Amino acid sequence: MQKVLFVLVLTASLFFKVNAATILIYHHVSDKTPKSTSVSTEQFKEHLELINSLKLIVVPLTTITDAIKANTPVDNNWVAITFDDGYHSVYDNALPLLIQYKFPFTVFVNPKMVGPSKLYLDWDQLAELAKHQGIIANHTMAHENLVQDGLTDEQMIDNILLADKIITEKLNQSHKLLAYPYGEYDHKIKQDLKKLGYVGFAQHSGAVNETSDILALSRFPANGIYANPKTLKAKLNSLPFNIKSITPSDTKPESLNPLLQVSLLNKDFYQSQLACFISGSGKPQKPEWTSKLDFNIASNNEIPKGRVKYNCTAPSISHSGRFYWMSKLWINL
Ligand SMILES: [Zn+2]
Repeated sequence: MQKVLFVLVLTASLFFKVNAATILIYHHVSDKTPKSTSVSTEQFKEHLELINSLKLIVVPLTTITDAIKANTPVDNNWVAITFDDGYHSVYDNALPLLIQYKFPFTVFVNPKMVGPSKLYLDWDQLAELAKHQGIIANHTMAHENLVQDGLTDEQMIDNILLADKIITEKLNQSHKLLAYPYGEYDHKIKQDLKKLGYVGFAQHSGAVNETSDILALSRFPANGIYANPKTLKAKLNSLPFNIKSITPSDTKPESLNPLLQVSLLNKDFYQSQLACFISGSGKPQKPEWTSKLDFNIASNNEIPKGRVKYNCTAPSISHSGRFYWMSKLWINL
């Protein structure tokens, strides 16, 4: 039996080529800012060392998004570093290290917040970041909550285009990349983004590949409680499920036990070990498999208010020690 299993695993590893890229999200790099959205400079350096020790290649975010847009495989060892909000500490503490390690990075900014201030960077500092492989991208004009602030489609599109116009005028950069403030979006907002030819970035976990949703790409939070290098290592090593479809596409739950239907193109994991962790609920839940490549998962308990995530993981067969990881966001208002 063991021999059969060994042959099966060996065969799977020979034939199953997994393409996986990961995107990290940071806010502050400082020990003087709120812990939940910060890493210390020491921790940030540890993360960069970890990336090197895992032999990952830090690529510009657009390298990953260009591949996904063109439906070409992402490279198995790509990782991108992103910072949201354009805080001062990115310039003061992260930039010297990023220059030292020669790593490209992206900063999502709100033009209305751009300095001079103690908290946010000004345009000269952003220009300095841009000189050192920094992509400066769109995080809306003033960090509006696109789901809860009640913007009309027109107001939202105007907001995104104005932020883009200002960034282009100040820094001569326009990448059509938008990080949703608070990681919040819904189906309607994604459709507006699609019309604008934009890529959208979320704040929930998961590796990405060419089957990922280009309007809500996952990013692994790497600050606060997620800064521990041990857990970060598992995330940097994580693999994206090869997704055929995820239903619903919207983030609005239709009930308090929302049903998620996932259809896969193929699979390279131990089906019996796929488990989903649901915000607000202690125990992981097993999904219901409706066919070889389709599973359903609905929370046993009523989901709490706010942003709720179903995080589903499963150990890879062909890549021992690595986990497939996907996350679905619900916004329960
Ligand atoms: Zn933000």
